[in-house]
Amino acid sequence: MPIVRKREIENLEQLSGEELQTFLDSLPAGQMTISRMLDFIEDELYEKTCDHHLMYAMKFMMDNRLDFPRLTSWLNENGGYCDCKVMDEIAPIWRNKFGDD
Ligand SMILES: [Zn+2]
Repeated sequence: MPIVRKREIENLEQLSGEELQTFLDSLPAGQMTISRMLDFIEDELYEKTCDHHLMYAMKFMMDNRLDFPRLTSWLNENGGYCDCKVMDEIAPIWRNKFGDD
């Protein structure tokens, strides 16, 4: 078994106040932007299957002129190696914290 370092996203549930703000400030994109990206990926995957790349995440980042090297490494560090993994590993924790709208 590979040693899996604890992912930042797993701590999100516990964060509040200043710690939460520090987390948000450290993100490569704004909270609303990331929420919108998750919604976008989910919509795209509804009709298509994941090809095990960050294809739709990339499309969203390009369309919105986001910092994709930083955002991609943030997704990877948190288990989001491809679009379906972003939905499995990041979206539930994110939405649990920030809501689903
Ligand atoms: Zn996938």
